[in-house]
Amino acid sequence: MKKAIITGINGQDGPFLAKLLLDKGYEVYGADRRRALKSNHGLKYLGINEKVKQIEFELTEFSNIWETINKIQPDEFYNLAAQSFVKTSFDQPLLTSEVNALGPLKILNAIHKLSPSTKYYQASTSEMFGLVQEIPQNEKTAFYPRSPYGVSKLFAHWITKNYRESYNLYACSGILFNHESELRGTDFVTKKITSTVARISKGSKETLELGNLDAKRDWGHAKDYVKGMYLMLQQEFADDYVLSTGQTISVREFVEKAFQKVGIKISWQGNGINEFGIDSKGRKLVSVNPNFFRPSEVDVLIGDYNKAKLKLGWEPEISIDELVEIMINYDIININQV
Ligand code: NDP
Ligand code: GDP
Repeated sequence: MKKAIITGINGQDGPFLAKLLLDKGYEVYGADRRRALKSNHGLKYLGINEKVKQIEFELTEFSNIWETINKIQPDEFYNLAAQSFVKTSFDQPLLTSEVNALGPLKILNAIHKLSPSTKYYQASTSEMFGLVQEIPQNEKTAFYPRSPYGVSKLFAHWITKNYRESYNLYACSGILFNHESELRGTDFVTKKITSTVARISKGSKETLELGNLDAKRDWGHAKDYVKGMYLMLQQEFADDYVLSTGQTISVREFVEKAFQKVGIKISWQGNGINEFGIDSKGRKLVSVNPNFFRPSEVDVLIGDYNKAKLKLGWEPEISIDELVEIMINYDIININQV
């Protein structure tokens, strides 16, 4: 029985990856930092809470990382834990770097010294492309991160490559474009939109307040993306891969799609911070709040996943319309929880 450690087990991707590995017969160790209230919501939602072996794991605590790897000697280590919210990274750049940049280095160091046959997956991100240098972005596109989050992840990306080349570790980076799901954290724009639209559809009088409506993202479903993570660790040689859908839409279009799913047609009036999304009865359902702007923005992301298609046989299966529908349906059913 193969052993895998997944950090960030109670984030969005952790439970989907754990389910995939359990279905393949792995012994899965779910690593998460200590918290006062343990909900394990995602693991319960996927019906695997009892099957995952929970371990306490703090990415800033080297001794904890060292002992965990020494004791478990996993076949595969998926490092999904991170301070993953771009906006927070501007307010907490040091913490973000400590967790996202030095955390992976600590893990790689422990693997190198204690368990060199462990295969390592690093959760890299399309945010490293930032101010994009070409369209679409692939594994060879030059990086230009635009946030402390992007910069911290770029360090982790390069140190993963460096440990692979220096010590012959099987260490891969998945450069994943935005992926969402019913388990997406509430700060992210898609979840914020679908949960608010769900409440509005049930009679809430609130307005959906957003920042930059023009930002464009290549949004897929997390369930597709964790398959790619797994495949990256099953190859003859370690390498880095882009996972994306190859499609991009704006935040504004995502809003329209979400409202459309509950039978509301949104039209737009005004400009800039005075732009509003209005329904057929003239209600202002969407407004712009500059508090949600970022000091520097990533305007457009669109990925080219041809290498993953060719070498891993990976392709996304869930379309943007299906993604929006899954999220809205979930948020309507769980209206009091989101
Ligand atoms: P989430 O934010 O949902 O999950 C991250 C997890 O990491 C959380 O459970 C969090 O715990 C945990 N964590 C944070 N800090 C620490 C720490 N110091 N020690 C231990 N655990 C910690 O992220 P996703 O599941 O969406 O993403 C998985 C990974 O992929 C992340 O590294 C993310 O940056 C990266 N990524 C994600 C993309 C996406 O679109 N989802 C795109 C590209 C990359 P807590 O809940 O307590 O904060
Ligand atoms: P990111 O791509 O990792 O930053 O994922 P997010 O979901 O946080 O943001 C995606 C895009 O939506 C970014 O360009 C944000 O500036 C934009 N956006 C617009 N309004 C909001 C908002 O209210 N919240 C968030 N999180 N993002 C917003």
